Amino acid sequence: MVVAGAGIIGCAIAYELSRRGVSCLLLDSRRAGMAATNAAAGILAPLAEFRRPDALVHLGLASLRLYPEWVERLREQAPEVDVEFARNGVLRVAFDGEEMAELRAGLRYQAELGMELIELDGATVREVEPRLSPRIVGGVLCPEEGQVSNQMFTIALSRAARKRGVRIIESCPALGFRARDGRVVAVRTPQGEFACDRLVLAAGPWTRPLARKLGVDVPTRPMRGQMLAMGGMVTPIHAVVWGARGYLVPRANGLVFAGATVEDVGFRLRTTKAGLAQVRRAACELVPQLRHASEHFSWVGLRPGSPDGLPIMGPLPGWENVTVATGHFRNGILLAPITGQLIAQAILDGRPGEALAPFDPGRFTLSNTS
Ligand SMILES: Cc1cc2nc3c(=O)[nH]c(=O)nc-3n(C[C@H](O)[C@H](O)[C@H](O)COP(=O)(O)OP(=O)(O)OC[C@H]3O[C@@H](n4cnc5c(N)ncnc54)[C@H](O)[C@@H]3O)c2cc1C
Repeated sequence: MVVAGAGIIGCAIAYELSRRGVSCLLLDSRRAGMAATNAAAGILAPLAEFRRPDALVHLGLASLRLYPEWVERLREQAPEVDVEFARNGVLRVAFDGEEMAELRAGLRYQAELGMELIELDGATVREVEPRLSPRIVGGVLCPEEGQVSNQMFTIALSRAARKRGVRIIESCPALGFRARDGRVVAVRTPQGEFACDRLVLAAGPWTRPLARKLGVDVPTRPMRGQMLAMGGMVTPIHAVVWGARGYLVPRANGLVFAGATVEDVGFRLRTTKAGLAQVRRAACELVPQLRHASEHFSWVGLRPGSPDGLPIMGPLPGWENVTVATGHFRNGILLAPITGQLIAQAILDGRPGEALAPFDPGRFTLSNTS
């Protein structure tokens, strides 16, 4: 079994396989967890851009609810790593009546979601988070949502997987495949060929060029995100704060992460003046005092997007033993546990479970191979 791509998704799948007694080889072209996984803000918010309870929201909720048990298990299996998991709530805020109406629209689904959502007026928003702008007219607090250190969580996952027999080889890109009778039998790399009875493609936005080598279009595309770490003042917020133009995440080290742009600019992995200015503006709109904060560092990552905004997970059309897991776009950190669980189970069962149906890679493409 080979998993190509050791971001949080590949690591979660390898970890779940190892828990089910299947050890695998995890390949990464660079260092494990250093692409989008390293760039993320770590927000665990299935209702982040919530309109109505669709397949993605339900998947996100299921994954959020797996987090406590995953964190507990990782605490035993990689006790030296603190993954900084916190259910500190996500506070969505509105600057005018229109934004508030959008937030309010979600409230009626509380019972269906089994999720507490608390509507707050502007004054109460500032009681909860005194540093927020006086221009905020109201908000909705979801206490069950929260955050994790995406970096530490992925390190813990990869260490726990290693302890269970997963072999991780870094700086070792999958370059191509050897196939026989509709099955991939080996992965070609600069370090030679690795035989495999099953293959998982979990290479983020690079899954598309990889799948093309098997004659299949998996239409994930890179969506650039730029972020800023601000600090030098007392942590101004306690919950994750989400506005229409940006968000703020209070991290355990006292810094506030401000994000993020969403740009369709191909694989161009660099920050821009305009992008960072946009992030800074949105941050200061939420907490005006951040105007005086120092900017510690900025960074950029490429989210794996998809044409319909849903992850692309399940069997690769036309191939008996290849599975895809990508397209997690803005929610890959949130969705890692449920993805690991569903994909590992699908591999063991030899077919995808019902829960994967909305995310079937076959919804976009027919295989060119037979
Ligand atoms: C700025 C920003 C903020 C974000 N904030 C959040 C957030 O708050 N919450 C949330 O849930 N999500 C967030 N995300 C999204 C999240 O980071 C991604 O959805 C997630 O990291 C995707 O994980 P992945 O493993 O699929 O991809 P990646 O992390 O990109 O990993 C793919 C891996 O595949 C490797 N690879 C590529 N080609 C090959 C090859 N040929 N062979 C072998 N390996 C290969 C790469 O080196 C890489 O390590 C954010 C993303 C960005 C950019």
